[in-house]
Amino acid sequence: MNRRPRVGVLALQGAFREHARALRAAGADVVEVRLPEQLDGLDGLVIPGGESTTITKLAALYGLDDAIRGFEGPVFGTCAGMILVDRSHLGLADLEVDRNAYGRQVASFEADLELNGEERPFRGVFIRAPRVRDVGPGVEVLAELDGEPVLLRDGRVLVAAFHPELTDDSRIHERFLELVTEATSVRA
Ligand code: GLN
Repeated sequence: MNRRPRVGVLALQGAFREHARALRAAGADVVEVRLPEQLDGLDGLVIPGGESTTITKLAALYGLDDAIRGFEGPVFGTCAGMILVDRSHLGLADLEVDRNAYGRQVASFEADLELNGEERPFRGVFIRAPRVRDVGPGVEVLAELDGEPVLLRDGRVLVAAFHPELTDDSRIHERFLELVTEATSVRA
């Protein structure tokens, strides 16, 4: 792809501005998505963290749930966004996720994560993070915390239980943009 990838960020609630900043820093053009037609022509979509019940309700209200189900490009869901793509919500990734499984707000924490294929750890910011309860056979684990998967990929869908957009480390957003670039060249 010779142009910059065009990536949408679902901007109903939550940390969408931080994702937009991180995506721009990693080399993407960013579109804030609040209506179904704003998905047209996008190369990828980020579903941010926030409050999954609020995002779910607003998405249904604006018809974005069906529109996102029909979106064919790569999707990156972080935290609440990981809940939204699981089997019991949009069904984009073959995962079952438990909300608030690490406890209440006080249980939010940071931890160094080992990313597959990289020596330098990634600082993971966990805010009332969801926990992965079950993964399908096609799901690849890219990082774990205490033996539990926290960064995973199911084909074109990338999910993180933590908030990579709240650090200055753009490596995970860069990985997502690699997926986007690959998918765009396959479709071209
Ligand atoms: N616990 C939140 C939820 O269930 C997710 C938290 C987050 O996105 N930081 O929606």
